Amino acid sequence: MKPSILLHVCCAPCSPYVVETLLEEYDITLYFYNPNIHPETEYKKRLEEFSDWAEKINVPFLVGDYNPEGWFEKVAGHEEEPERGSRCELCFDMRLGQCADVAFDGGFDLYGTVLTVSPHKDAVAINRIGQENAIRHGTKFLVANWKKKEGFKITTRIGRELGLYRQDYCGCVFSRREKVAVQ
Ligand code: SF4
Repeated sequence: MKPSILLHVCCAPCSPYVVETLLEEYDITLYFYNPNIHPETEYKKRLEEFSDWAEKINVPFLVGDYNPEGWFEKVAGHEEEPERGSRCELCFDMRLGQCADVAFDGGFDLYGTVLTVSPHKDAVAINRIGQENAIRHGTKFLVANWKKKEGFKITTRIGRELGLYRQDYCGCVFSRREKVAVQ
């Protein structure tokens, strides 16, 4: 029997390469928990795209609560940090902590995330925070850097072939403002 993994996903287009790779070795349940996404219309759009895709590939999934107020509390005082700074570490901590908690409660063998597939994401920080939360919540974390071996390029190509919606900012209101500022 394959080990069971609860895999945190940030959005549909970042996930196909990771899921295709892990399906060979793991019994996967996907977990969409992203209270960072702003505004709510964008959250709903990403969630719908994700759930349609997960149903299409026949992989079970869970959806966490959308609690943006809790997210704003979590990053309070770090709002002006650039992407890859302390605000992002707190954002990872919130999402991975919740995933670790659900993995423990659900009896999964381990948990993981697709977040490291993005070239904008600090894999060292994500893996450290993932492991810290595994210890805190009594589970295990799959250490990985999915952007290696052209992971981002591959997942982007698959997403394009599937016609998946890809957003042009990470998710939070601050990343959205940064995007607008550089245009
Ligand atoms: S830029 Fe992305 S990872 Fe960083 S705080 Fe915003 S939503 Fe989270």
